[in-house]
Amino acid sequence: MTMPTTVSGNRGLQLEQNLIFEQDTPGMTAVDLPAAPKVIERLGDMKSTRRIGLPGMSEPDVVRHYTRLSQKNYSIDSGFYPLGSCTMKHNPRLNEKMARLPGFADVHPFQPVSTIQGALELIDTCAAWLKELTGMAAVAMSPAAGAHGELCGLMCIKSAHEANGQGHRKIVLVPESAHGTNPATAALCGYAVEAIPANAEGRVDVAALRQHLRPEIAAVMITNPNTCGLFERDCIEIADAVHEAGAYFYMDGANYNAIVGRLRIADLGVDAMHINLHKTFSTPHGGGGPGAGPTVLSPKLAPFAPVPQVVKIGAGFDSEEHAGFGTAKQSYGRMKGYHGQFGVFVRAVSYMMAMGIDGLRQASGDAVLNANYLLARLGTEMTAAFEGPCMHEAVFDDRFLKGTCVTTLDIAKALIDEGVHPPTMYFPLVVHGALLMEPTETESKQTLDKFIESMLHLARKAKAGGAEAAFKAAPMYSPRRRLDETKAARKPILRWTPSEPEANGNGARQAAE
Ligand SMILES: *Cc1c(COP(=O)(O)O)cnc(C)c1O
Repeated sequence: MTMPTTVSGNRGLQLEQNLIFEQDTPGMTAVDLPAAPKVIERLGDMKSTRRIGLPGMSEPDVVRHYTRLSQKNYSIDSGFYPLGSCTMKHNPRLNEKMARLPGFADVHPFQPVSTIQGALELIDTCAAWLKELTGMAAVAMSPAAGAHGELCGLMCIKSAHEANGQGHRKIVLVPESAHGTNPATAALCGYAVEAIPANAEGRVDVAALRQHLRPEIAAVMITNPNTCGLFERDCIEIADAVHEAGAYFYMDGANYNAIVGRLRIADLGVDAMHINLHKTFSTPHGGGGPGAGPTVLSPKLAPFAPVPQVVKIGAGFDSEEHAGFGTAKQSYGRMKGYHGQFGVFVRAVSYMMAMGIDGLRQASGDAVLNANYLLARLGTEMTAAFEGPCMHEAVFDDRFLKGTCVTTLDIAKALIDEGVHPPTMYFPLVVHGALLMEPTETESKQTLDKFIESMLHLARKAKAGGAEAAFKAAPMYSPRRRLDETKAARKPILRWTPSEPEANGNGARQAAE
């Protein structure tokens, strides 16, 4: 099935856009500069005779180039984005406005401490909220993302083991359903990783976990709510068993949005947990932009937290910058320049203060309610992977597509034509042909109903048969159709090579000019 083509390659008002280097008109410029004064040349034959390769363009062409590129980015601001395990929710503009206040936005990391008392107080306020919400003793604020927070937690665990003569513990247990960052972090930290299976319910198999516990185990990493969108009910039992075995309990708290305001993590026996401020606490993400993964710590791990640390001194604040001193006597050191992602802290504090504890509690409740609405209504045509109710996300497997020749991927691609960013596909790995949907609390019932209508239509169309070709041709309306995503990930082309080597001859062209 093909779409009619146009002479220009454009589709309606959706315009094709070449690389900026391909739009080069040598000599064209968006600014008029005065002629360069005559200087005595001292470079001799060291002087480059080639153009430096900046494309020559007029101002309107530059504006159009970047505007068109920005319009190719699908975002939470343009539509529904139910990507599971990502918490793609609306971030109130108020928090953006706060982060842009000049006093926050223009603060410089090398300013004397006496001039950044407000900034340090803000970091301390953010930390106080996170400690209050989780009931944990301390929080390391500097990790710059969820995975970075995991590293921080495991570094604290490693330091604690070494300090206690337990440095021989070299293995970290991670459930099969874990986010890929968990085993990656453990490996980066020098640990061997052992997988623990899930039970038929989609939760950690506690009996299997117990069998794995032995004196070589340093820690267990468990995501809660887990990546199947389910609450790990046996956390306290797991924590007790892990502690009895002399190991630490790391909790991946990236899915904190589902439980914030409802549960104190400390009560589950957790030793360390990162919180993705960019998921739960209102920072736009998804394009690889700045995030923050503060890591809350139990009293046993708190002494090993990284520097810098904000410390309260009398009525003001100071910053402990050096491991081995003051509050950082046993700190394992520094993992990032400065205090972390300050702008993300501003947004988080603004969000938490605007919501209040009761508002945060309401948000997690609404996030769970929305996911269960999807689970209930989509469950009429699709097959839920696990028995509900779920937490913040609903996961379906591909049993409903059995015998149809239509795959999870085909459904996802057809959703693009319906104007929806596809849910997470084929993850968690423990669910066959998974579609993992996280609607979040900020979507209205109207938006969810529209999505459900599209989803149910596609499920029925697949099951009715005869639509295979149409599914395989999707997406029809996107700027690009089916891409070889594996090749794009494995062999990305990150360098522009001009098609004709001669055209590259900026030197040759310059010589002719
Ligand atoms: C998002 C996520 C992470 C990683 O967070 P980043 O900020 O992307 O590093 C880790 N674990 C889970 C369960 C997640 O959803």
